[in-house]
Order: sequence, then C-alpha cells, then structure tokens
Amino acid sequence: MTTPTIELKPSSRPLSDTERDAILASPGFGRHFTDHMVTVKWTEGRGWHDGQLVPYGPLSLDPATNVLHYAQEIFEGLKAYRQPDGTVATFRPDMNAKRFQHSAWRLGMPELPVETFIEACDALVQQDKDWVPAHGGEESLYLRPFMIATEVGLGVKPANEYLFVVIASPAGAYFPGGVKPVSIWLSEDRVRAVPGGVGDAKTGGNYAASLLAQAEAAAKGCDQVAYLDAVEHKWVEELGGMNLYFVYGNKIVTPTLTGSLLAGVTRDSLLQVARDLGYEAEETRVSIDQWQADTESGALTEVFACGTAAVITPVGTVKRATGEWKQSGGEAGEVTMRLRNALLDVQRGTAEDRHGWMHKL
Ligand code: PMP
Repeated sequence: MTTPTIELKPSSRPLSDTERDAILASPGFGRHFTDHMVTVKWTEGRGWHDGQLVPYGPLSLDPATNVLHYAQEIFEGLKAYRQPDGTVATFRPDMNAKRFQHSAWRLGMPELPVETFIEACDALVQQDKDWVPAHGGEESLYLRPFMIATEVGLGVKPANEYLFVVIASPAGAYFPGGVKPVSIWLSEDRVRAVPGGVGDAKTGGNYAASLLAQAEAAAKGCDQVAYLDAVEHKWVEELGGMNLYFVYGNKIVTPTLTGSLLAGVTRDSLLQVARDLGYEAEETRVSIDQWQADTESGALTEVFACGTAAVITPVGTVKRATGEWKQSGGEAGEVTMRLRNALLDVQRGTAEDRHGWMHKL
C-alpha cells in the first residue's frame, strides 16, 4: 500500500498578521486554530489516499456517520516549539505516531504509517509556521491529529472508511502566573479503565467517561481526578489526562504500564531525563495507602503529574473520602521543578538534545 504525499492546497490567509499576533499574545489553550488542516482518507481495498493540506474549516458529515454513534475515534496531542535560531521543531512525533497506531489497532481501525503521521504534522506546521509562538517562554503550537470512522450506516462493526485529520492550535503557557500546584481528588469508586479495556488507547470515549468524576472532583474543590485500578481499587494509575510520578528523595517512581493507563510520551521522557540528571527512575506499582503513609512518614517528598499540555504539574493537595493531605507543604517541589526545567529546555532548544527527541522541520 502506498504512503500518500500531502498535496498542498493552501488558501490565502483568512487573518492578517496583526489579527494573528493579537491571538498569539494571549492564546489560552485550544481556543484558536491555525489557517489550515491536513486530511488523509482511508477506504477499504484502497488504503490511504488523497492526502491534502486545505484551509481549516468544518467537516460535513451525514447524520448516520459511524463515529457519531459508536465513537470509533482516536486522537493524539503533541507540540511544536520555536527554537532559538527561529526554526521550529516538534517533540518526539514518532512516539505519538506509534501510540496512534496502537490506539487504531485497539479500536479496530487501520494503522496510519508513522511516516505519514509525521509528514502530515510537518506539512501543517510548515504551512502555518507563523502560528508557532516566539522562542523563550513555554508557549507552543499544539497539534491535534485525530481519526474518525466515516462510513455512513448504523451497523455496529469496524467502518470501511476513515478520515485522518490534523489541526493546530497555539497554546499559551500552562501556568501564565508561575507554576502552581494542582489539587487532586482520589476517586475510589469511579474507574477510568479496566483490564482488557481501552485505557491505553487515546480514544474519545475514555475522556467522555471521565467527565462525571471530573465534575465531582470540582465539586469537592479539586482540579483533577486520580484513578485507581478497577479490580482491587488499590493501585494508583493516573489522572484523567496526565500520568503521575512520586519522588522519594533521589528516586522517582511512576506506575507501571498495566494496559489500563496511557503510555505518556512525557512520562517516558522523564524516566530518561531523571536518569540523565543522576536520579534513580523506576516503574512500579504504588498503592493509595502507601501514597498516604509515605507522605505522612516523610519518605515521599514530592508528587507531580506530567503530560504534553502542562509538561509537569506539581501536586499540592490530595483529598480522598477518608482524609486529605499536602505534598511538599503544598508547594512545587525542588526535584519536580528541576525535571520540569530540564525537559522544557530540551523542547525549547536551550539544552542539548541528547536523545534525538527534537524533530526539526
Ligand atoms: N494520560 C492520559 C489519560 C492522557 O490523556 C494524557 C495526555 N495525552 C497523558 C496521560 C499524558 O500523555 P503525554 O505525555 O503523551 O501527553
């Protein structure tokens, strides 16, 4: 099956430089989109075809389109950063491409070749490069590749047609006023994913299923939900949209990939960054009672969450039905901030890219 080359069909830009720069001065997250998008189709018997870069705009879907009924959908999230020399680079797009393939496999969808995924992201960033914020801060261009089942009809089965799309949105600093620890609600009854389920696929249904718990957390005054495993309700898995790390002095540990949590690109990168900085870094199982007891004993010195959007977020307060405690006095811990700066420096191109993670355009 041939890999499509993206045909460029750009429009004259809908926004003036002044209008775009006004958005870039305060982009927020996921509110504004760049001038173009990339689309690639897949049809049974034909494979991937018709790769195009076209003006950003609505998709027209028949009301009986499969994805609207049975949620056969997957997505990704990655960032492009302006480098000190003015060029642009994306962070580990091959990892996102491979995770997209895994998600596709789990949802019974065709696997997009890694090179087509990267080619599509590159084509969009190249075309809309003026939307990549200036070098220096934590701003970036967030890329959102996704794929939907486009076959029309109401049969429950893998569709025979799909549409892959990449859109892009400028993202401001996650903490514009300085890094602020988040509070976490530990959900001991609602679960995010189950063994044998789709927890390690990045599919919309996982996020739809997390919204009620998220609303309950907000009602308890918390920013995020931490989920436990669905069988013993004992092992800490992850947050609704971020992985977790526990800092024990000079050692950091993160929950093992059991199949019901997402294999975060940031999580993987931090295992390496931590080792590069001389910390021990390990994947292991952490129980909720151990989390609480080790905090109380002082052995567990910091906790942080990580993901593409925020890179690293310190955890300040943790609440569960039976109690509540603070991590590192409710402040951002020293190891947390050191790791955060080290990874951001690689992404912004101000530290050596020792592992070849930056994909230059
Ligand atoms: N877990 C979940 C459920 C997520 O949605 C995300 C964000 N993609 C992550 C973890 C972090 O993954 P990454 O570091 O690849 O952004």
